[in-house]
Amino acid sequence: MKRLPTAVPLAAAFILLAATSLRPAAYPSTPLEKKVKALTDKLAPELIDIRRDIHSHPELGNHLPRTSAIVVDYFRKLGLEVRTGFAGSGVIGILKGGKPGPVVAMRGDMDALPITEEADLPFASKDKTILDGRETGLMHACGHDIHTTLLLGVAAVLSAVKADLPGTVVFVAQPGEECCDGARLMIADGAFKDLAPSAFFAYHVDDTLKAGRIGYVSGFMWANVDGFTLEIRSDGCHGSSPSSCVDPIVVGAQVVTALQVMVSREIGVHDNTVITVGSFHAGTAPNIIPSSARLEATVRNYGEPQRRVLKDKITRLVTNICEAAGAAFDLSYSFGIASVYNDPALVRGALAAAERVLGSKSALVEQRPEMGGEDFSEFGRIAPAVMFGLGVIPPDRETTAAHSPAFVADEAAIPIGVNLMADIILDHQARAARKAPAK
Ligand SMILES: [Zn+2]
Ligand SMILES: [Zn+2]
Repeated sequence: MKRLPTAVPLAAAFILLAATSLRPAAYPSTPLEKKVKALTDKLAPELIDIRRDIHSHPELGNHLPRTSAIVVDYFRKLGLEVRTGFAGSGVIGILKGGKPGPVVAMRGDMDALPITEEADLPFASKDKTILDGRETGLMHACGHDIHTTLLLGVAAVLSAVKADLPGTVVFVAQPGEECCDGARLMIADGAFKDLAPSAFFAYHVDDTLKAGRIGYVSGFMWANVDGFTLEIRSDGCHGSSPSSCVDPIVVGAQVVTALQVMVSREIGVHDNTVITVGSFHAGTAPNIIPSSARLEATVRNYGEPQRRVLKDKITRLVTNICEAAGAAFDLSYSFGIASVYNDPALVRGALAAAERVLGSKSALVEQRPEMGGEDFSEFGRIAPAVMFGLGVIPPDRETTAAHSPAFVADEAAIPIGVNLMADIILDHQARAARKAPAK
């Protein structure tokens, strides 16, 4: 036997051993993982058919009779307890696992957008509606057809392994995300009154990532969507005699500029804030100082206390500028959708499953928070919540833009999303059941 020189090879062997033990086991490795993977693979063609059907017939707002009927039928066939009538077309399906454990929820939104589809797909939407007296096409341009399909897919997979599932999973099919307060109304209508989920999970399609990749943010992911309307009033006077009245256009212009200075000088550099005055209307002719100016703004930042502080700052600034000019004004401030906060512990737990299912850490992309809004934040008021980005850029494209008439999503993302979420929930439930066995 040839004796090896000792020091270096032993260290190398140790490093190799350590590296091997750190690497996740090949997926699927446990009997449950194998079942989940096989079920997902078998379901994939059926789920893609369902997605195409929903995609072909988009519905708007909180009234989604066709889409919610698909969800209700599917949940009933799976043997879930089905409850309807939340926020109009909202549906929940309740799956009770065979082992003790907590209640968790998965949310998928179902509503579409008033956009005429331009994507060259055999199942592209040709549906139309009349909105504000004008005809418009309807399109699932934000991927909610995929979110609904993922919800059905995960419900099907977890139903098939329910003997191994600790606790209860509530599948939440939500209307009205784009426009109509769907999440808040579902909660107000008592969707969770006797359920009290301890965690909420969701996906949103991610138009910056290829299919097979998952985006995540730990902490704030989407912003508060607040805003205000400011009406500045004057008596109005001749444009050649500006000292005869307050000029509401000049006062409004000062407000617009001062708001931008405020963002850069009064707000902490790490407290991301956007104030955009997107609408400023005043006047009818060059030689008339008008009797009013109307400004409308969107205001974005993160966190509940922070949005109240920002409202106070904006109110102070507007009041002082208008009073200094001697202008009367009405400021109407509104708090809209709250920011989405991804619970770091839920993110960590899910990432372990994601790395295993996707086979590599490089498929997981840590992202920056966005200043857009998502009403998933309403569920985060009930319990810790997390939303992941599901990559959907097709292989033959570099980009695909949500809310665009040309939006196209890679359907390969559907089985990936189903497989991953089923494992994330099974993992989470097993961990939670170990920590606090239900009585
Ligand atoms: Zn959208
Ligand atoms: Zn969306």
